[in-house]
Amino acid sequence: MSEDKPRSHGRLAARPSLRPRELVTDTPELQGAWRARVITLLPEAFPGVLGLSLTGKALAEGLWHLETIDLRPFGEGRHRNVDDTPAGGGAGMVLRADVVARALDAAAPGTPADRARWPLIYLSPRGRPFDQATARQLAAAEGVTLLCGRFEGVDQRLLDHYAIEEVSLGDFVLTGGELAAQALLDATVRLLPGVLGNATSTDEESFSAGLLEYPQYTRPQVWEGREIPPVLMSGHHGEIAKWRKAEAERITRERRPDLWAAHEATRPAKAPKKRKPKASTDEGIEPAKA
Ligand code: SAH
Repeated sequence: MSEDKPRSHGRLAARPSLRPRELVTDTPELQGAWRARVITLLPEAFPGVLGLSLTGKALAEGLWHLETIDLRPFGEGRHRNVDDTPAGGGAGMVLRADVVARALDAAAPGTPADRARWPLIYLSPRGRPFDQATARQLAAAEGVTLLCGRFEGVDQRLLDHYAIEEVSLGDFVLTGGELAAQALLDATVRLLPGVLGNATSTDEESFSAGLLEYPQYTRPQVWEGREIPPVLMSGHHGEIAKWRKAEAERITRERRPDLWAAHEATRPAKAPKKRKPKASTDEGIEPAKA
């Protein structure tokens, strides 16, 4: 597992310019730390928000690594052109297959060829919708390579040739893949061990059990005449858990019938109620089977 990891100790300064650029360099190279490689025309957009708060602290501590590969130096000619007009006409520009291929090849060294261990993803509105299950899959891999599009996107032949998986952030169009990549990375990195302070806090949140989260409250106990639901102040953990489950189910049913239907479909079918053989159990002669 470790033999095909890049060993960048002590040679960061000597790295040729077309190699991935590590965004936080003087951090410990923790063995097996999760890695992200991002191909983009806007490397200066990274780490962006990922460099702040919990994901930023984890990045600085070496719990994960982020490298950008600037697409521009792989461009054609003196001006390093990366795009051209769409075949067949129409508005905008398309990223060239040959240019992006050179960047992909530069991003490959040190990454396993097995896509289950290291997915290769193009952020695209046509992709499979990103969700919590995908974030978990990515967090369980060794790392990911992300391709951020710009303009009208990339030449289809590149996607076909490299069998690149397309992932969408949602049914809307961004101007580029960078914000989508950062959202995907944020959702993934927070699942890595040690990144969130409280390790159990991802178990109960929205989507983890196929439900949206129950409402949260904190002090003051009364605000603008509104009280915190008394059960939450009761100290009765069993009742609190029951209330939260009921609220999570209610909110999911009301807001996301699609999630609710999926949740209901995966729930083990309720076993038909067994009639207790009254006489025998009551008398303790023949215990009821579980
Ligand atoms: N012409 C394309 C849109 C290109 S938008 C189309 O109609 O499908 C430019 C780039 O922004 C894309 O290449 C992609 O990388 C990124 N992008 C836009 N919307 C996105 C979304 N919903 N999810 C992920 N990436 C997106």
